[in-house]
Amino acid sequence: MAQPLIITLDGPAGAGKSTTARKVAERLGYQHVDSGAMYRVVTLAAIQNLVPYTNEALGQLAGKIRIRFEPSFGGQRVLLDTVDVTEQIRSAQVTANVSEVSSFHNVRNAMVQLQREYGLNGGVVMDGRDIGSVVFPFAQIKMFLSADLEVRAQRRAAELAAGGNSVETSEMIEALDKRDKYDSEREESPLIKPEGSIEIDTTNLTIDEQVEAILEIVRKYQQTYDMITAFGDI
Ligand code: C5P
Repeated sequence: MAQPLIITLDGPAGAGKSTTARKVAERLGYQHVDSGAMYRVVTLAAIQNLVPYTNEALGQLAGKIRIRFEPSFGGQRVLLDTVDVTEQIRSAQVTANVSEVSSFHNVRNAMVQLQREYGLNGGVVMDGRDIGSVVFPFAQIKMFLSADLEVRAQRRAAELAAGGNSVETSEMIEALDKRDKYDSEREESPLIKPEGSIEIDTTNLTIDEQVEAILEIVRKYQQTYDMITAFGDI
């Protein structure tokens, strides 16, 4: 019987992490945890409650609210306490504020604790910026997804266009670049390529190809594990 693994996917915005993580989780029967969505929920709650951007105030908020993922047809829903905020957390206002809110130590502390609880029994695919470096540095499978900035911007612009919001690719390039710099240069858990992670450049790959590449790595890991445990029985 295959052991339930922890699989981490880190990388910059628009590299295809969340969609890939969701599909890998579906194929393995694992839970998908989109850690970026968790930081977005805290940001939305801060905006709604006019919470000042200080370590104490935001940390208190992050420890108080309830963030839940609920399975639903066509992808999971994200709940803030009892309210479905799946669409709201993708608003331009939340996106513009999330990097700052998530840079506070107490906010990260609260989120990392929750994220580790999700991983307690394995069987989880978690995507974000610090999952393989800080949240689960000893995860069995650690991936780093990268892609050219322009391609990432085109993908994000296409996603928004599908939802009825048009944004120029040049504007998107600027916004993603700004967010990536902020996320990579912050003191607290910056976006890095985690030690021991396997990098996939997704510039010229489809989502299905990314999913297959990760599943192949998982299969190889499981085969090696099975072989070692079989030898152990001899
Ligand atoms: O993945 P997504 O683009 O939704 O993440 C939104 C923001 O949340 C990121 O730009 C980053 O500032 C923050 N984040 C983080 N650590 C994570 C996941 C997301 O700081 N593990």
